[in-house]
Amino acid sequence: MRHVIALDVGGTGMKAALVGDDGTLLHRARRATGRERGPDAVVATILDFAEDLRAYGVEHLGTPALAAGLAVPGIVDEERGIASYAANLGWRDVPLRALLTERLGVPVALGHDVRTGGLAEGRIGAGKGADRFLFVPLGTGIAGAIGIDGRVEAGAHGFAGEIGHIVVRPGGAPCPCGQHGCLERYASASAVSETWAAVCGKPDADAADCAAAVASGDPKAVRVWQEAVDALADGLVTALTLLDPRTLIIGGGLAEAGEVLFQPLRDAVRQRVTFQKLPAIVPAALGDTAGCLGAGLLARDLLNHTDRTEVTP
Ligand SMILES: [Zn+2]
Repeated sequence: MRHVIALDVGGTGMKAALVGDDGTLLHRARRATGRERGPDAVVATILDFAEDLRAYGVEHLGTPALAAGLAVPGIVDEERGIASYAANLGWRDVPLRALLTERLGVPVALGHDVRTGGLAEGRIGAGKGADRFLFVPLGTGIAGAIGIDGRVEAGAHGFAGEIGHIVVRPGGAPCPCGQHGCLERYASASAVSETWAAVCGKPDADAADCAAAVASGDPKAVRVWQEAVDALADGLVTALTLLDPRTLIIGGGLAEAGEVLFQPLRDAVRQRVTFQKLPAIVPAALGDTAGCLGAGLLARDLLNHTDRTEVTP
């Protein structure tokens, strides 16, 4: 059966799948990233994992994978197929596409994890059918993926969509990026966890606990939550003023609060827009499989592109 390899590399684990021509997941697998062993060992693990997936295809699906898609964190030069930098994995300028192409003997696409996840949310997830979308996962930090006509814009240097570092509170909390008052210092799941732990006096309390307290009407929690929602709305309105998306897809840990987040967020965005068109604001649909599914789309796009090239005279 015709299929491709999809591989999503995270800071702690790697998720992989063999994806059929119609997008069906034919096989799924996970493996530890093992970043404590250093960047060279991580690269070796990625290559070995991909080779094992290729072997699985030969044994169980009767044919080797025709292409592979690989999503990695950090700064990614998708055009040249190079993983430029990842703080959590410690690598610099790894030519991952060339290494994996050499190992597998098939075409390989390399993508940035959030943009790749956004590609999947936009095409087959919450944004399905939207020609213009913005995907914003609220996790440890806040990132973004700008979807345009079935692809995700990487920017001239691979930095497009970094909405988490839009300054929403000038002179505010310092951010590791060097600025003060960045959105992710106020509205990431980590930021809400930190603030709520300090306010409620329980060091282990997190954003989900805060959301639960909001739902039960705790006024302190409501105040913490609303501050995060307001910061998020400020950042999102800046983004939608620039991009005019049809759909705004919000994912990550904080979005798991469901309507506790989405109802006040829709209100806060609506209050801020003047001439701008209000996009649909929807929760992400694919959860933590988005990166892997997106890697599969990248790989299948390679084949479609090749098919097109072959029939063009
Ligand atoms: Zn920042």
